[in-house]
Amino acid sequence: MQDLLPEKQEIFRHIAHTIGDVLSAYGYREVGLPLLESTGLFERVVGEATDIVEKEMYTFDDRNGDSLTLRPEGTAGCVRFAQQHGLAFNQVQRFFYAGPMFRYERPQKGRYRQFEQIGVECFGMAGPDIDAELLMLLGRIWRELGIVGSVELELNSLGSADSRAVYRKSLVEYLSQHKAGLDADSLRRLETNPLRILDSKDPGTREILAGAPKLNEFLDEESKLHFDDLRRTLDRMQQPYRVNPSIVRGLDYYNRTVFEWTTDKLGAQGTVCGGGRYDGLFEQVGGKHTPAVGFAIGLDRLALMLEPGYEHRPEADIYVVSAGAAARTSALMLAEQVRDGFPALRVQVHCGDGKFKSQMKRADAVGARLALIIGEDEVAADTVSVKHLREEGQQVSVGSGALNDYLAKVFV
Ligand code: ATP
Ligand code: MG
Repeated sequence: MQDLLPEKQEIFRHIAHTIGDVLSAYGYREVGLPLLESTGLFERVVGEATDIVEKEMYTFDDRNGDSLTLRPEGTAGCVRFAQQHGLAFNQVQRFFYAGPMFRYERPQKGRYRQFEQIGVECFGMAGPDIDAELLMLLGRIWRELGIVGSVELELNSLGSADSRAVYRKSLVEYLSQHKAGLDADSLRRLETNPLRILDSKDPGTREILAGAPKLNEFLDEESKLHFDDLRRTLDRMQQPYRVNPSIVRGLDYYNRTVFEWTTDKLGAQGTVCGGGRYDGLFEQVGGKHTPAVGFAIGLDRLALMLEPGYEHRPEADIYVVSAGAAARTSALMLAEQVRDGFPALRVQVHCGDGKFKSQMKRADAVGARLALIIGEDEVAADTVSVKHLREEGQQVSVGSGALNDYLAKVFV
């Protein structure tokens, strides 16, 4: 689990704001969801035989003996939330949420045990149009973040639950004839979750998979039409994508459209966003049929991408320096006046005594463009001395009441 230094946190906040703005421009509303849910919810929704439930959850008993789990992903909680508040069945909803997720994984670059996601879930829309809109929305997010050239959209269709069952059977039949060449994990999955073998990274297993039956040959007619329509729409909207038949996603609940956005800028941890449809999930957890589609963006990996060229804002735009007890109060008052007039400017007051010289050093160190200087003379004359720190030796005296007008000309 990482501590985030201010520079890093600033990037996270920029990313979260940018994404939040795009989402609200598309009519998505933010919801606040608990970091904990009952363990059974994740077992039912994410699936017993997934990596997450098998080995990645932080699970504990509370004082009442109830088993709780720190959320490893957001869809389960959001589905629980929508059911509980009657916000899904027979309705159209566009929700998003932001915050930390927890998975017991091997920590490395781009993979942490607490990480940030922004998740989006759409309820009540069955057609490929909403799938397309979500992908266009993501394209816009990458453009706003300035990384559109570094990410690629990979698409697949998993078909219906029924067509997947038929495919699963045929895949198991094929792989059972090649057991000797499979890695240990894949052998185990052959019994528990054979589709997950498709994203095995083991070279031997990959070789065997090359000759395996393909999921797209088993798609049911409706899923095929859905996928063709989505592809046509993306083509017309000039959103590039690549069909990647080995995308199966790590969670059990998906059907039809699944997608990942990947980058080659982060080494092995190259997926920055994953999602897809989960039309059967509400029924699976005891609700009524509600078509649904969503995705989750991993903010930590985006932050790694943005970090190298990120232009941090200075700690302060204006630094207020003072000498003497009377001036100290004037400094605080003046700073409030500036904040009233310029809410977006960063104004820092030097608190605690200090020599004038060291205060000015500090003003420079925090990157301020202006120092506002208040000494005994200024207090007596009700003025402030304004020193420009980034331009050649200018210092001007301004009446306190005229300061905001002066600043308006500097910070246009
Ligand atoms: P991966 O294949 O990299 O393990 P995943 O399929 O487990 O990813 P999802 O559950 O789809 O990931 O989560 C969506 C996004 O959340 C991922 O694309 C990734 O950007 C981010 N993410 C997932 N796990 C982690 C983690 N442990 N640390 C940082 N980010 C993560
Ligand atoms: Mg994972």
